[in-house]
Amino acid sequence: MVKETAFYDILGVKPSASPDELKKAYRKLALKYHPDKNPNEGEKFKAISQAYEVLSNPDKRKIYDEGGEKAIKEGGVGSANASSPMDLFEMFFGGGRQGPKKGKDVVYQMAVTLEQLYKGATKKLSVQKKAICKKCEGRGTISKKGAEKCGTCRGSGKVIRVQNLGNRIIQQIQTTCGECQGQGEFIDSKDRCKTCEGKKIIREKKIIEVIIDRGMEDGQKITFHGEGDAEPGPDVSPGDMVVVLDEQEHPVFKRPRTGGEDLLISMEISLSEALCGLRRSIKTLDDRILVITTLPGEVVKHGAIKCIIGEGMPRYRDPYEKGRLIIQFNVQFPENLDASIVPELEKFLPPRPPLDLEGAEQSEDVALMDLDFDRETHMRSDRRQYDEDDGPNANGMPGMQCATH
Ligand SMILES: [Zn+2]
Ligand SMILES: [Zn+2]
Repeated sequence: MVKETAFYDILGVKPSASPDELKKAYRKLALKYHPDKNPNEGEKFKAISQAYEVLSNPDKRKIYDEGGEKAIKEGGVGSANASSPMDLFEMFFGGGRQGPKKGKDVVYQMAVTLEQLYKGATKKLSVQKKAICKKCEGRGTISKKGAEKCGTCRGSGKVIRVQNLGNRIIQQIQTTCGECQGQGEFIDSKDRCKTCEGKKIIREKKIIEVIIDRGMEDGQKITFHGEGDAEPGPDVSPGDMVVVLDEQEHPVFKRPRTGGEDLLISMEISLSEALCGLRRSIKTLDDRILVITTLPGEVVKHGAIKCIIGEGMPRYRDPYEKGRLIIQFNVQFPENLDASIVPELEKFLPPRPPLDLEGAEQSEDVALMDLDFDRETHMRSDRRQYDEDDGPNANGMPGMQCATH
């Protein structure tokens, strides 16, 4: 039992979430709330990053689970040596600034259906990125002469100021160059390019065509080299555009968390089908109909798992190889039976074991109650919340009599 769940709540996962589930939750939320796409959600982006940073590290997660956010802060982990939300984001998506001479990678998430991943598809995605201003060819000026380098800061935009604090203590402070306002250069206002306002770059909207290959999976990245943000300056190449696939949940077919090419479905069958045989159809992701039939006399047990070879997902880059379609059978038992037919039914079923009273001097008949464990667990956690809010509870016992751990 974890002490608090705030970090899990931010990511929208249960405290029992696997590292994979945490990754997936962070991926989706970080892309959604990234300041590039959602400039007003900076705080949310920070919170998501902080939560993921702690929970993705097994040691920090343990500290958090046991002592909550307070323990993380006191332990000096999480705040002091936390990486910035942007660093975390770039580390996660593998993009970022590999070298000083490359623009930023632009990451987009694209929703895809399982059918598209099964059959392959081409999708259009509208993206936005920074591009070199074509009007001024990245100079920022109308004339060919370009901007003039600031002599005070030698183009860096920053200057070092030395401050004497007395007692022979000297402090060096780096400040923005006042001469050029940190720009590192001057552009004559009459010569300034109107299209980019002297910034050399503009925001460009573009439609890109994304080819989804058969067998691709959730979280897979498709990289468009050189289609990311451009940066002004000589020898600076633009970053990459990275499209991350976001597989939408399918109502029937699931892919196992472990990856691979298998597909899972669960099939509700009646007790009659379980005992007397079943013949069912399954519509595949490419709209074919598969018919499954049990052998005469075969019994399908509740929870039984069977598979069809070659009807799973196509393998990525080898799409004629396919995984298995795994079917889990759930037997729907009737709520009750007509008492008059029970003796007749019993004739065809395996015999019941006799009542065992051996070793007892006496026996008593007792009532058998229905018990809903899920509901009870819910009530217990509500109760604990109440206890924590209102101080210790003298009784301290959960309400249900049958409750055991
Ligand atoms: Zn300057
Ligand atoms: Zn321009």
